[in-house]
Amino acid sequence: MRTPLIAGNWKLFKTIGEATALVNDLKPLVASTSGVEIVVAPVFTALSRVSEAMAGSNIHLAAQNCYWEEEGAFTGEVAPKLLKDAGCSHVIIGHSERRQYFGETDGTVNKKAKAAIAAGLTAIVCVGETLAEREADKTFAVIETQVTGGLEGFSVESLTHAVIAYEPVWAIGTGKTASDAQAQEVHAVIRGLVAKLFGQAAADGIRILYGGSVKPDNVKGLMAQTDIDGALVGGASLKADSFAAIVNFAA
Ligand code: PEP
Repeated sequence: MRTPLIAGNWKLFKTIGEATALVNDLKPLVASTSGVEIVVAPVFTALSRVSEAMAGSNIHLAAQNCYWEEEGAFTGEVAPKLLKDAGCSHVIIGHSERRQYFGETDGTVNKKAKAAIAAGLTAIVCVGETLAEREADKTFAVIETQVTGGLEGFSVESLTHAVIAYEPVWAIGTGKTASDAQAQEVHAVIRGLVAKLFGQAAADGIRILYGGSVKPDNVKGLMAQTDIDGALVGGASLKADSFAAIVNFAA
């Protein structure tokens, strides 16, 4: 069975002090949660201190991005092994905001995901269509291109260290969630695609998260869908009580 994964993407919010306070508030609220992989993704500058604050807890640390080279003359970039060094076990790759504002492509997503996994991290690879693409009936074509391109050249073994996050761009930070059925439909397509590319066992094993205005009051319906294995949460992860309520969706 696939272990549900609930990840909080803190985006460009919170100082080191605010981030450590948030994780300290979160710890007791999820201390007795079992059977859910809990992940938070603060800004780079807070990673190390949040890692220290969460030591011994059941919360895991993610970065929001990485570069694909290990070291070198790449001013401003951060290598996967440095994320490990800072305490990360996971990294978010190709979030739609990075695709939209920072020129990320399926090609860069692919290189980053491979480098992250080679360094021992779990790569959370994001895909999702824009509103214009959905309205033009291009959702499945866009998803197919992004999944195929993002996972190109992966071995079946390396895929076991990848997670896919389906995040319809029109649902991110807008308060508009995909309906349970809309989300399930795309998740099933993604799983089918993974089966076609990597075989049924790989498809059965890979976790596919939903992201886009997930809140305590809609998480249960989403998590009840056959092919939804967790959530990537933005806004609602910035407060300990709402993120804990999402993590504890099964309670
Ligand atoms: C996200 O940042 O990945 C996200 C889904 O944001 P929100 O939950 O705020 O829509």
